Amino acid sequence: MIILNTIESDAMAPRPPKVHSSSLLRYKALLIDAFGVLMDSKGDLPGAIAFIELLNNSKHDYFVLSNSGIYNLEQSEANLKKRGFPVPQAHILSSGHLVPRWIRDNGLTGKQILVLGPRSSFSLVEEGGAHVVTGLVDEVDAIILSHQTGFDYVEGIDHAISLVFRSIERGKPLKVLVPNTDIIYPKMEGFYGITAGSLAYLLEKAVSIRFPQAPSPVIYLGKPYAPLFEEARRRTNTMEMVMIGDQLLTDIKGANDFGIDSVLVGCGVTNLEHEDFSSGILPTYVMDDLR
Ligand SMILES: [Mg+2]
Repeated sequence: MIILNTIESDAMAPRPPKVHSSSLLRYKALLIDAFGVLMDSKGDLPGAIAFIELLNNSKHDYFVLSNSGIYNLEQSEANLKKRGFPVPQAHILSSGHLVPRWIRDNGLTGKQILVLGPRSSFSLVEEGGAHVVTGLVDEVDAIILSHQTGFDYVEGIDHAISLVFRSIERGKPLKVLVPNTDIIYPKMEGFYGITAGSLAYLLEKAVSIRFPQAPSPVIYLGKPYAPLFEEARRRTNTMEMVMIGDQLLTDIKGANDFGIDSVLVGCGVTNLEHEDFSSGILPTYVMDDLR
């Protein structure tokens, strides 16, 4: 853990101390969650654009690290730019960007992959050299559950569990890749939606009921699982990284499990004043926003 100058800390309760964004530059590399740290549905969050500009100007190592599973690098860069964030491609890493290599590493180049998700996610599969199939096909070599949109939930999940069940019965279990591991997301004030991770839990549960002995077919790439953090370490070549995020269960748990420091911000889904950290998942520091 890197000891930073803290702004305040409550001596009564074991709360993580509060820090200022500028002190985070003491870390060799910063991993910054996008939604809830840099932006929300209304636009950019306080201090976020200036902080990214500071990192760019000082040539500090950083990644905008998101669980998004549907955009390639060009699309991710354009999406950030549209919201006012000048983030070069070399500093963008989302779980969807790990899909092409996963396809190649698992011998799925040239194979048929059922993609449950929108059209924008197809390019990631094609980049890995696999063929995208959609609809109610009889046989595939793998399944990618890339997003909660672009297909009919019930029909899509029913079809996926049927394919997985048949593959287990044949002794050649299919893998189901889930880049976006988020469970829910805030749509707008007072409205929430389920994310691809929720559908993956349904699928895992269904498989565990019919085949209690079978290992889960689901492979997760995004936070809090290790692959995204491992890729960040590979590219930055350091463990002196800090994860800045707004969600305890993904950003902070992921950082804790991977063994790096973390900062929980109060400008996203977590309300810092009401958070009592009773879940046991503790960030190293807290911060209101990137100002
Ligand atoms: Mg977030």
